[in-house]
Amino acid sequence: MNIHEYQGKEILRKFGVTTPRGFPCFSADDAVQAAQKLGGKVWVVKAQIHAGGRGKGGGVKLARSIDEVREHASNILGMTLVTHQTGPEGRMVKRLLVEEGADIQRELYVGMVVDRSSQRVALMASSEGGMDIEEVAEHAPEKIHTVIIDPVTGLKDGEADDIARKIGMPEKVIPQARTFMQSLYQAFDECDASLAEINPLIMTGDDRVMALDAKFNFDSNALYRQPQIAALRDLDEEDPAEIEASKFDLAYISLDGNIGCLVNGAGLAMATMDAIKLYGGSPANFLDVGGGATTEKVTEAFKLMLKNLNLEVILVNIFGGIMQCDVIATGVVAAVRQVDLNVPLVVRMKGTNEDLGRKILAESGLPIITANNMAEAAEKAVSAARGK
Ligand code: ADP
Ligand code: MG
Repeated sequence: MNIHEYQGKEILRKFGVTTPRGFPCFSADDAVQAAQKLGGKVWVVKAQIHAGGRGKGGGVKLARSIDEVREHASNILGMTLVTHQTGPEGRMVKRLLVEEGADIQRELYVGMVVDRSSQRVALMASSEGGMDIEEVAEHAPEKIHTVIIDPVTGLKDGEADDIARKIGMPEKVIPQARTFMQSLYQAFDECDASLAEINPLIMTGDDRVMALDAKFNFDSNALYRQPQIAALRDLDEEDPAEIEASKFDLAYISLDGNIGCLVNGAGLAMATMDAIKLYGGSPANFLDVGGGATTEKVTEAFKLMLKNLNLEVILVNIFGGIMQCDVIATGVVAAVRQVDLNVPLVVRMKGTNEDLGRKILAESGLPIITANNMAEAAEKAVSAARGK
C-alpha cells in the first residue's frame, strides 16, 4: 500500500526524523492559511499523488509571497499531473502539501527496501540525490552504497557513519545523519514498510539534515496489525476496478490488453497471461478468483471485466482441484446469464468433474467456445479478439 508524501513525513516526524514543517491542503484557501500559519518568506506548494517525478512534471512550485502560494495552489489542484511514474494518462491532483521552503545546500539520497536475496532490509544511499535513482543505478552504480541491516542489532552506529561519509557528508553532520538513518530504519521496521525512500535528503545552509521528500510502501499482508497505517489509504489514488475487486476478495490487476482472464490460482493466472502473449494476444487483466469461488464471486468477476471498454473476449481457465468443474461451470453459466455477456467467451476446464462441467456448458445453450488445453484456449481467445 502507498501513502502520500505528507503522510510519510508525519510518520517520519513521529520517529524523530527532521522534515520541513508543513500542512496538507485541499483548497487554495487552505493553502493560504497553511502558509500564514507556517510564517516565513518562502513556501513550497507540492502536489500529493502516489507517484514520484512531480517536480519535473510541474507539481512542485516555490512561492515567495502569499499571493504566489494561492496562485500555485489553484493551478496545481485539479491538474492532471503527468510524470514518468504516472504513465501518459497522468493523475488528477486532489491534495497538496504546503511546507516551508528549505535552504538546500546539498541533495542526497537514502532508501530502504526489503532485499529478497539476503532476506533483510537493505539501506542504500547516494550522493546523487534529487534525481532519478534508477538513472544513477544504471549510469553510475558505484555512486550507490549499500548496507544490509542485521534485524537483531538494527543499523549500527558505525554502519550509519560509514555510509554517511561515503555519500560525502562532512564530519560535523555525521551524528545527525546517523540519527536520521537509524530513525528511518526504526520507522521502516515498526510500520512494516516494504520501501522507504527519501529523495532528496538534504543538508541545509545551517547544517541541518532533513527529509525533503518521503515515499513509503507498506506490506499489505501486515496491514491487519497496522491500523494507523491502513487508515492512511487513499482510494482516490487506486484503480476503481481493483478497489471493487478487493470488496469481493478477488485478486485483480487492470492491464492494457483486450482479453479478459478469469482464472483460479495466481500461478495459473500468470501462466494464462503468458500463453495469451505467446499466441500474439494481450491480457486485459490479471484475475485470480481464488480456491473457493462461488457463483456470486464469478458473477462479480465477470461484471468487473465487462466494465473495461477495451475488453473484446473473455477467457476462463480453471483447474478443478479443490474447486470442482461442475460448480464453476454452473457459476459461469449463471454469471453469463446475469451480466448479459456481449463478448465471446472461451472456457477451458480441467480436473475434478470436468466431464460434468463440460456437459453443463454445452447444455446451457450459450455460445461458449470450449477448449481442451491451455494452448488451444489461448489461441481461440486471441483469434476471437482478432475476429471482432
Ligand atoms: P518529486 O520527487 O516527486 O519530484 P520532491 O519532493 O523530491 O518531489 O521535490 C522535487 C524537488 O523540489 C526537490 O528535489 C527539491 O529540489 C525541491 N523541493 C521540494 N520540497 C522543497 C522544500 N520544502 N523546500 C525547497 N525545495 C524543495
Ligand atoms: Mg523526490
